[in-house]
Amino acid sequence: MRELEVASHFPDLSWRWYNDIPLLKGIYHFKTEYRGVPLQDSFNLEFNFPVDYPDKPPLVRELDNKIPALFHRNPDGYLCLCTPVEQHLTFLQEPTLESFILNLLNPYLISWLWYDSFSEMPWGERRHGSMGLVESYRDLLKLKDIRHTISFMLEYVRNKIHHKESCPCGSGLSFKKCHGNIVSKYENSLPKGQLIYDFVYIVGGLNEKYFN
Ligand SMILES: [Zn+2]
Ligand SMILES: [Zn+2]
Repeated sequence: MRELEVASHFPDLSWRWYNDIPLLKGIYHFKTEYRGVPLQDSFNLEFNFPVDYPDKPPLVRELDNKIPALFHRNPDGYLCLCTPVEQHLTFLQEPTLESFILNLLNPYLISWLWYDSFSEMPWGERRHGSMGLVESYRDLLKLKDIRHTISFMLEYVRNKIHHKESCPCGSGLSFKKCHGNIVSKYENSLPKGQLIYDFVYIVGGLNEKYFN
């Protein structure tokens, strides 16, 4: 298993088994440079692998609370590396432990170490819950605002988008000439079930704000 080899690059991480479920645990020594600033620390981490791994990415806990709970941690205790849809799309590009560490975990640690030193985020951050999720979709779909994003998602979820008809983004162009390409880019990587799930979550969360 390739994941076992990857772990050997990190001598202080080791595999354990709990009820037939593999866990990768130990000290992760992280050292990098960002904008010319050396960043370095060691973290006591536990990687959990969901049963449908590698369809779904691993989940990571930081066991020593070096990173405070208020800094991007989910209510279930796992690190909030980014929004679920961004995590899904990033991990899907190369669903391996190595790429997970490189493309999701390390950027998270950079943002923490940077924040810890300078009290600001090195790049933007997403809000938690439905706001962050809808902002992710807004950016993925290159839409203007949240309102357009929600109505766009609604039309998509209801199968109401037709190639020759006008694009639900409101540009006045046909869907084919407007958002058709962006949507087809994500069609294979974002299962419709996931989109519906996210849409329901977004609408549920924003209900008070936008629909009352
Ligand atoms: Zn977060
Ligand atoms: Zn459009």
